[in-house]
Order: sequence, then C-alpha cells, then structure tokens
Amino acid sequence: MNTLTLPTFEDVVAAAERIKGHAHKTPVITSRTLNEELGCEVFFKCENLQRMGAFKFRGGFNALSKFTPEQRKAGVVAFSSGNHAQAIALSARLLGMPATIVMPQDAPAAKIAATRGYGGNVITYDRYTEDREQIGRDLAEKHGYTLIPPYDHPDVIAGQGTAAKELFEEVGELDAFFVPLGGGGLLSGSALATRALSPNCKLYGVEPEAGNDGQQSFRSGSIVHIDTPKTIADGAQTQHLGNYTFELIRRHVDDILTASDAELVEAMRFAASRMKLVIEPTGCLGFAAARKMKEQLKGKRVGVFVSGGNVDIERFCSLLAG
Ligand SMILES: *Cc1c(COP(=O)(O)O)cnc(C)c1O
Repeated sequence: MNTLTLPTFEDVVAAAERIKGHAHKTPVITSRTLNEELGCEVFFKCENLQRMGAFKFRGGFNALSKFTPEQRKAGVVAFSSGNHAQAIALSARLLGMPATIVMPQDAPAAKIAATRGYGGNVITYDRYTEDREQIGRDLAEKHGYTLIPPYDHPDVIAGQGTAAKELFEEVGELDAFFVPLGGGGLLSGSALATRALSPNCKLYGVEPEAGNDGQQSFRSGSIVHIDTPKTIADGAQTQHLGNYTFELIRRHVDDILTASDAELVEAMRFAASRMKLVIEPTGCLGFAAARKMKEQLKGKRVGVFVSGGNVDIERFCSLLAG
C-alpha cells in the first residue's frame, strides 16, 4: 500500500475552508453531573446537531466541492443505507448537481424518504442477491457519475477531520479522545487533527463489540474482514476498514476499544436524561467506552465525539424501554 497518497492535516485545514458557511460549527457540551461521576472533565463534540444529523455532511460536502465542472454536470453516485446517503444527497443539492443513491430495498422507509427529500434519486437493490458496489460502479461508468464512497477516500477523510479540528481549537489540548469507528473515515480524519493540534492526546477508536474487525486489524497489522455484525449500532456495521483509513489508523491511533449494545443503551439514556441530547446508538460508542475507563481518566481532560443523532423516535424509545 505504499502507493497511497494519504491525506494530511493541511487537507483538513483546506476542507474546513470549503465547508465554512455550509456545515454548522457544532457545540461542545459538558455535564457537571458526569464530570463528578467520572472525576474528570469531559467535552462532547455534538455532531448529532450537524446538518442532516451527523458528521458525514462534512466529508460529503468537501468531496463534492472538489468536483470539476464536468464532474458536477454529470453528478455523483453513492451507495449507503444510512447517513452517507443523506450527506451526499444534501451536499449535491446545495452544490447544484444531480445525486444518485443506491440503497437496499428494505432500508427503513424514513431513510429512503429523507434521502429523496434532499433531492437524491434513489435506486433500490436486493441486498441478498445484488452487489451494491457493482451497481454503483456500473452507474458511474454508464452515466459518467463520480462515485464517492462512505469512508475510504482522501477528501471524505479530510472533511470528517474538520470536527476534531474545531474541538481542539475550542477547548485546547486533551489527554484522551474517544471516537466512534465504522469504516474509519471519521477516526482517521480525527487522527490528522489530533496529531496536529494535541499531539500527546491518547486517541481511541470505538467499535461495537459484535463487530470488532477494526480492533482485530489494528492488533494484527492487516485488514481483517468479518460478516455484517449484529448490533444496534447500524452506522458501524462495516465489514472492514479501508486502505487509506487503516493506514492512518495504524500510524496515529493508540488503541481500538469496543462497547456492547447494552452499554450503548445506557449511554443513550444518560445523554437523553441528563444532557437532553438525542444520540443514535452508533453515536454513543465513544461515550460508552469512556465511561468504562473511569479509573484511567481520573483528573484528565477527555474528548468524546458524538457522531450522530439519526434514530427514529419510536426506535429510540423502544431501545430505552427494552
Ligand atoms: C458513518 C458513521 C460512523 C462511522 O464512521 P466511519 O467513518 O465509517 O468510521 C459513526 N457514527 C455515525 C453516526 C455514522 O453515521
């Protein structure tokens, strides 16, 4: 993989300029109750309050902003059942280009509707018999669309890194930082910002316990593939890290941790009842892992990345009730 040109912190800085005035600068929130409970100072970067409800708008908008006039004219294609779909559809609308989103037939109706609501042309496929990557590539070839993958792309990674950049610029250096991990776009972008702005900060990626391919990859030194894991953290059901993301993660991240579904629900409950924050299960991975490290974090300054808030309210309530 020596042929990869990895994005750098300069790319994150350039991305921050591109998304300025389009993405929200999301708030950093603290909780005295939590700080007392854990004996440390925790700063939550609230990307559940980002446009379309997750940090993915940053990477999507950055990637699409870099299109040439020819690419803009033809438009973008993405495959995703979740937040990346909405991020690409919304970014494309704002930049005035067509977007085609390949989604599974059985994706939640609300997600398909949200993507269509942002102006995305949704094409559905059967997730048991068809290969979405192939469909995406075929559409790209046939119509001249540019394919933007959800995490393994330098412009996506650089865009995702802008949120951590904002966090460090607002609160200064930290001792530890906990970031949700799926395919690793968020973690690798956050790593670029962390190493530039708070070089001694311990940086942790956090995966669902049922799908710890990133942890296995980090520890074994090569990308491990797994079956789609069963977890309530639907934004982190990825089967493997990407080539760019793995390379950045293994250079810059201190460790990969996991959180169980039950721990995610407890974290969601705390955030909702004490902090008035609605966080989707995946969005709680960082918080859930930080809570388990109470002893090591005593007296420290700790960052927690809240990655998204897109969970329908009925599901939210049933998870908390269950
Ligand atoms: C996509 C997503 C993640 C994981 O991000 P990766 O870049 O795939 O690691 C985490 N949380 C939320 C809410 C997401 O939408």
